Formats: sequence, structure tokens, C-alpha cells
Amino acid sequence: MPPQVVPPPTRQLRDLTWPEAREALAPETVVLLPIGAIEAHGPHLPLDTDVIIAEEAARRAAVRLERRGDRALLAPTVSYGVSEVGACFPGTVPVPPEVIAGQVARILVELARWGPRRLAVVNAHLEPAHVAAVRTGVERAVSVSGAAIAFPDKREPRWAAGLSEEFRRGARHAGGYETSLVLAADPAAVRTYLLPDLAPVWVDLPAKLRAGARTFAEAGGVDGYFGNPAAASAEEGERLFDALAAMIVAALDELDPARPPVSAPNRP
Ligand SMILES: [Zn+2]
Repeated sequence: MPPQVVPPPTRQLRDLTWPEAREALAPETVVLLPIGAIEAHGPHLPLDTDVIIAEEAARRAAVRLERRGDRALLAPTVSYGVSEVGACFPGTVPVPPEVIAGQVARILVELARWGPRRLAVVNAHLEPAHVAAVRTGVERAVSVSGAAIAFPDKREPRWAAGLSEEFRRGARHAGGYETSLVLAADPAAVRTYLLPDLAPVWVDLPAKLRAGARTFAEAGGVDGYFGNPAAASAEEGERLFDALAAMIVAALDELDPARPPVSAPNRP
């Protein structure tokens, strides 16, 4: 496989000094906040798989925005999430929903306080309680800051339509979908030598969770994965990242551009 051609790095808030941040956090700047989780993703993917996917999707969305003339800035990632379903596997570190909701709300409000009026939350961890907590945080931040904040949910049929058959079937944890994305974003992170021996696990995980399963193991994923990781490829991951970046930009474009700021940004 030829080496991946990586576009130039997009600006990251964490790299800036405060005078640089003052300039970067302009009202027209779009801020992207990646959110992941520290959670078991089968024997073949690292615990920070959702962090890798969220950061790369946000970075590629930022590249798209900049190519068309928007200013984009990546905020430091929220790396922990509500990952109770994976807590039967070593290394999974869940935090409570109210902690995520409060942290997400506060981070977005503080980012908006310095100027930006459009932000997007790029979440890669799909546990229902986690998505609900992030949504609570986003709604609080919108009401407090008056900023417009996109939070596209890739599980919605209109976004899922551009992803994969496996994703739409609900076998969407550490299978072909996520393994392909990590192969595209950080190939060295995938234990590819294990892939041929991983038998497909065709379980509709969201349906199992709705039916009362509390862990991956209870849902039938005894090794912490669902779907078909052996079918993953970097090419499929590239296609999926394109779809995710397009989703994020489309969700930003759906925000009301005329939304007035509730309060003027505070600057020292
Ligand atoms: Zn994941």
C-alpha cells in the first residue's frame, strides 16, 4: 500500500498562544470539537478508537471548510465518554452522563465566549446514553451562549445512508466500519495480523441494547466487536471519512446563519 498523502495540518487550538488564539477565535471561525471514548474495540483495535475516528473526521471536515474559504479551528478532544456497555472489558473507562453533559456544555460555552458563532460537535462514540448526554450538553450550550452548534448524529437514516451496509444493520462496533476508519487514519494502530481469525458477529447492537443488554458480552459480542472486521480496508475507510466530513459540513450549513449572538464576547 502506498504511503498515505496527508493534507497539511489544520490549526489546532491547543497549539496556539493566547494572542494567537485571540486572532483565531474570530466570529466567523468554525470550531470543531471531537468527542470519543476510552473503550474496548475488539482484540484488534485500541481503546482510543473513537478518539482516533472523531479527531480524523473533524480534521477532514476542517480541511473541506478551509478549501472553500471558511476558517476552521480544531478544539482539543473530549477523550472520555459514557462507555458503560464496554466496561466488561479491561481498560474501558466510562464517566457518568452528567459529567459528559456538563463538560461538553461548559467547553462549548467557553469556546463561543471568545467569538465563534458556529461550532460543530464531532462525536464518534454511539452508546445511546453517551449520545443523549452530549445532546444535553449541546442544548445547554446553545441556550447559554446563543451560538449555533451542529451535532450531526450519524445514526440518522439520512447520514447512515452514506456509510455502510454493516453500519445500517447495527453491527457497528469495532467491525468493518470502525476498523476501516482506523486503517485509513492510523494504520499502525490496527492489529492486522488478528483480522483473518475474527469471525463475523452479525448482531444488531442497538436492538440488543434496547432489549435490555447491558454490556457487549450480553449483546453477543464476547470479544468486544460486532460486524466483520476481517472485511475492513483503508480504501473503505477513506470513503467513509469522506462521507463523515461531508456530513459535518452539511450539518454546519444547516445552522441558521442569521442567528444573533445573545451576548458580546468577553475579552481581556
Ligand atoms: Zn467505537
